[in-house]
Amino acid sequence: MSQLQTAQLSSVQNQTLFEQNGLPPQFNLDQFINYQIASLQGLSAVQQAMAKAQKPFSGVAVNTLAATVNDVDLAKPLADFPAVLNELKSVYLDHAVYFHHPRYMAHLNCPVTYPAVVAEHIIGAINTSVDTWDQSAGATLIEQKLIDWSCEKAKLPSTADGVFTSGGTQSNLMAMLVAREVAVSRYAANHEVKLQGLPDVASRFRIYCSEVAHFSIQKAAALLGLGYNAVVPVATNNKMQMDMDALNHAIADSKVKGDLPIAVVVTAGTTDFGSIDPIEDIAKLAKKEQLWCHVDGAYGGGLLVSEHHRSALNGIEQVDSITIDYHKSFMQPVSCSAFLLSDKRHFSHITLYADYLNPLAEAGNGTPNLVDKSLQTTRRFDALKLWLTLRTMGEAPLGRAFDKVIGLARQTHIVLNDHPDFDVINYPELSALVFRFAPEELRHNPDLLDTLNLHVRQTFLNTGEAMIARTKINGRHYLKFTLLNAQCQLSDVRAVLEQISTIAWQTYKEQK
Ligand SMILES: *Cc1c(COP(=O)(O)O)cnc(C)c1O
Repeated sequence: MSQLQTAQLSSVQNQTLFEQNGLPPQFNLDQFINYQIASLQGLSAVQQAMAKAQKPFSGVAVNTLAATVNDVDLAKPLADFPAVLNELKSVYLDHAVYFHHPRYMAHLNCPVTYPAVVAEHIIGAINTSVDTWDQSAGATLIEQKLIDWSCEKAKLPSTADGVFTSGGTQSNLMAMLVAREVAVSRYAANHEVKLQGLPDVASRFRIYCSEVAHFSIQKAAALLGLGYNAVVPVATNNKMQMDMDALNHAIADSKVKGDLPIAVVVTAGTTDFGSIDPIEDIAKLAKKEQLWCHVDGAYGGGLLVSEHHRSALNGIEQVDSITIDYHKSFMQPVSCSAFLLSDKRHFSHITLYADYLNPLAEAGNGTPNLVDKSLQTTRRFDALKLWLTLRTMGEAPLGRAFDKVIGLARQTHIVLNDHPDFDVINYPELSALVFRFAPEELRHNPDLLDTLNLHVRQTFLNTGEAMIARTKINGRHYLKFTLLNAQCQLSDVRAVLEQISTIAWQTYKEQK
C-alpha cells in the first residue's frame, strides 16, 4: 500500500472507528474496512517491533516498565488507533520477550507458524465457542478431526478420544482426575465423588512420577483433594529418566505402609532435561499393578511427527492418557494443547449435563457437544491454529523443525563437553541442556560457581543479549538452554557460550 493510500484509509478510519453513536466499534461487515486498516496498522506495529528487536529482550527493569504502565489513564482513551498502537510500543512491544529470536534459549516457548497467527485473527473475528454444537458447528468437527489425528499419531486404540485444553497443566489435571475416579470406583464402589466428595480411602491414594516431573502433577493432586503428599517422587537414573528399580521399590514401600498406588506419570520430555522416562517398561508395570498410566508429553509430544526420533515414544500406544502441548513442540501460539484418553468412556467422570447447554438427551442422539469432555465451558477454537498449519504445510516440516533443534542440542552437548569452562549435566534426548560455568581451576569452590552462574543469568536478563534459564541440581545453581527455534544456529549457541565465559571470568576477576 502506498503512503497516500494509507493516509486516505486512516482518515476514513479516524472518522468512523471510534464514532458509532457512543457504542464500541463492533466487528461486522459495515466496519470491515476499519478492521482491515486497523489490522494492517497492528501488523505493521508488530513488524516494526520485531525489526527493532536486535536482541530477544530489551533488558528493561520491572520498575521502569511498571511506571510506564501505571502512567496510562484508562479513563482517557486515545484519539485514534495509531496513537493506541504507539502507546502499546512503550508499554509492551518494545519490551516484549521475543521467542522467534535465535538467541532466545530460555524456556519451553516456541516460534510460531504464520498460518497459526492468521488463525488467531479468524478465531477472534468469528469468536466461536467450542463448548456445544449449537455454538460452533464446523469448529467442533475440525477440533474432533485433529483429536482423532493426534490419537492416530500416538497409535491409540479406536476407543480413544480427547479434547483441546488450555495447556499441559489442565491436561495433567484431567488425567489425575480420571485416575482418581477410576481408583474410587475400585476402592469405594458405589461412592459418587461428584455427589459426596472424596471417600476416606482417598487419603491413602498414591501417584508416582519422577523427581524431575512437572510441578503440575503436585498441583493437580492438591486441587483434587489428594494433597501434595499423595505424589511420590521417584528417583531418576543418570539420564534423568525414571529409574525402574526405584519405581518398583516406591510402589512396594507404599503397599507396606498401607497406602494405595493408583497412578504413574511417565514424563516424555522433562521440562529441565528433555529426558524421556522408559514408556514401555512403565506401561507394562502399570498394567501389572493396575495403575492408571499417564504420559505427560507436554514437551516430547512433538516427536509424534518426527521423522528421526518417533521411536523414542514407543509404548505410548499402550497408556491410558496423554498430554500434548502443541504450543511447545508444534510451533503453535499459546494456548494450544490436548488431553487424550485411550478409552473415551472415562470422559464420563468429567461430564456434567446442564439442561440449558448440553442436555443428556443430546448425548444420546449423537449431537457432538465437546463440553461433555472439557473442564472449561466457553472455550476458544484453538484447534484452528493447528488445522491451518497442517493444511498449509502438512506435518513433516513440524517434525523436521523439532528434529533440527534436537540435532542442534546434541551438537551443543559436544561443544560443552569439549569446552574447559563448562560442566554439562545431561545428554539431550530432546532439545534441553543443563550445564554450568565450572572451569577446572574453580571446581574446588562450588559456592563461588553458584554465585558466578547466577550472576551470568542475571546479566543476560539485564542486557537482553540472550535469554537463558536457570535451574537447581542437588542444591547447586545451573544454567539451561531450551532450544526450540529451528532458525537458531550452532554459531548462535557458541556465541552465547563465549559470552557466558566472558561474563563469568570477568566477574571472578573483579571479585578477587
Ligand atoms: C510445560 C509443561 C507442563 C505444563 O504445560 P502448560 O502448557 O505450561 O500448562 C506440563 N508438563 C511438562 C513436562 C511441561 O514441560
